[in-house]
Amino acid sequence: MTTEAPPTTFEGLMMRTPLLVRSIAERAEQLFGPREVVSITSDGAERSTYGEVVERARRLASALRELGIRPGDRVATFGWNSRRHLELYLAVPSMGAVLHTLNIRLFEDDLRYVVAHAEDRVIFLDASLAHVMPRFEGVEHEVLMPDSDGERPGALPYEELINSGDPGFEFVDVDENAAAAMCYTSGTTGRPKGVVYSHRSTVLHTLLTNQADGPGLRERDVALPIVPMFHANAWGLPYAAAMAGSKIVLPGPRMEPDSLAGLIASERVTFAAGVPTIWQAIGQLEPAPDLSSVKRIVCGGSAVPEALMRLYDERFGVPVIQAWGMTETSPMASVCRVPSDGPEGDEAYAIRALQGRVVPLVDFRVDPEAGGELQVRGPTIAHAYYNDESGAQKFTDDGWLRTGDVAEVLPGAMIKLVDRTKDLVKSGGEWISSVELENAIMAHPDVVEAAVVAVPDERWDERPLACVVCGPDSDLDCDQLRTFLRDKVAKWWIPERVEFINEVPKTSVGKFDKKVLRQQVAEGKLGGD
Ligand code: ADP
Repeated sequence: MTTEAPPTTFEGLMMRTPLLVRSIAERAEQLFGPREVVSITSDGAERSTYGEVVERARRLASALRELGIRPGDRVATFGWNSRRHLELYLAVPSMGAVLHTLNIRLFEDDLRYVVAHAEDRVIFLDASLAHVMPRFEGVEHEVLMPDSDGERPGALPYEELINSGDPGFEFVDVDENAAAAMCYTSGTTGRPKGVVYSHRSTVLHTLLTNQADGPGLRERDVALPIVPMFHANAWGLPYAAAMAGSKIVLPGPRMEPDSLAGLIASERVTFAAGVPTIWQAIGQLEPAPDLSSVKRIVCGGSAVPEALMRLYDERFGVPVIQAWGMTETSPMASVCRVPSDGPEGDEAYAIRALQGRVVPLVDFRVDPEAGGELQVRGPTIAHAYYNDESGAQKFTDDGWLRTGDVAEVLPGAMIKLVDRTKDLVKSGGEWISSVELENAIMAHPDVVEAAVVAVPDERWDERPLACVVCGPDSDLDCDQLRTFLRDKVAKWWIPERVEFINEVPKTSVGKFDKKVLRQQVAEGKLGGD
């Protein structure tokens, strides 16, 4: 399969109905009108329904039109996971404009760059974030969403905009390849790069998300996307929930582990998704939270430690399913399910800790020339960045996305991510996978978090430095940890440098921020002998 459609010789006689985000909104409205949408604000839970949400999306779309927003214009958001954010997810693409979700945790300098680069015309912001969002030049309107008491002089009140809008507004048809949304990568290297999702890629991604072997949302599910709507479309879950008619629970600014656990219990959540760090924190809560309603958790964004899966099985009886993806891949690109001929019981963990099989429509290869880099292509994969020539190196000449992840392919086409190309540790000419070493360290019962980075070494060129966070009552020391690792990793992998730290620095989306650790090493604050 190629990335371009080849010429047709004998045409199929099926309708050429474009794949559009409006169809997701219209389906939710028509089939699941009374199904609940729960959104947490500083005043507690706001309860509404898909029927109300889509009617408000119509009003919003017409009000945006009145504001002068035209097809192709960028409409930005700066907000938590909320009902109003969901209304924007549905309204903006369905009036032909492009939803640009701003990452609220980006550094101000990057935010300014991103807003200017995308040429955002309007920004919708949560009142609870009004004090942190800078003023951007070139943005014509700010609209304040009332999730708390925060103020923003000059901003239009969201509810007034809704009231002024036409509830009978007809969503517009656009080409299915037209832009629907954009999201900038967090810029672990260089400037953030703009990924532009099309209507077609969004609809296809929504369909594949709801495959039974994927997150597989159903009408009877109660879905809690903890992954933020400001990063990689909350893994597409708002659209997946709306298409399936699942009740959706949106946690707003209440992202603390105990609030999330309380919400899971009170709303009887059946499906939740988030990065490993959040599940780690919820899993450690004392007394044990009530997760009895939860049927499955999807976890990804960084490698899911086997220890985390064991914790959830043993403490809560809840399976944690690993998924892999990146902003450029919509983002869900692989999901791990133990195959029918795979092992069961304890041995299944070795399989469950893999990144799994690619999702439908996505093709993959591992390029030995590029150090074992995983490359992917397909209709839900970006083929370029928005107005960014420096980004061209992320794509191969024959049309694949270079993921920057190093992978092995195991029997059954199961993908095992070994590391990020830039995170590998090269010791004596051989590679050490920082991820595998972290997982082995995190299997120690006293260890809460561990991040491994390379430090320069005279003899071996590089050696791993383990930065380890222990539980409050632990007196684990370097020697004990090394002894623990003896039967878990190759002898030469065992780090002689271990730093016990209070917390692993995190990126804007809660992943270990190795850039910060490396900087601390460079400044001599960490890893000294
Ligand atoms: P960034 O973190 O650079 O902003 P993304 O949020 O798009 O970018 O993250 C994509 C990267 O996250 C992947 O390339 C991969 O390195 C990492 N990642 C995502 N899911 C997993 C997973 N299940 N296991 C290991 N790494 C993962």
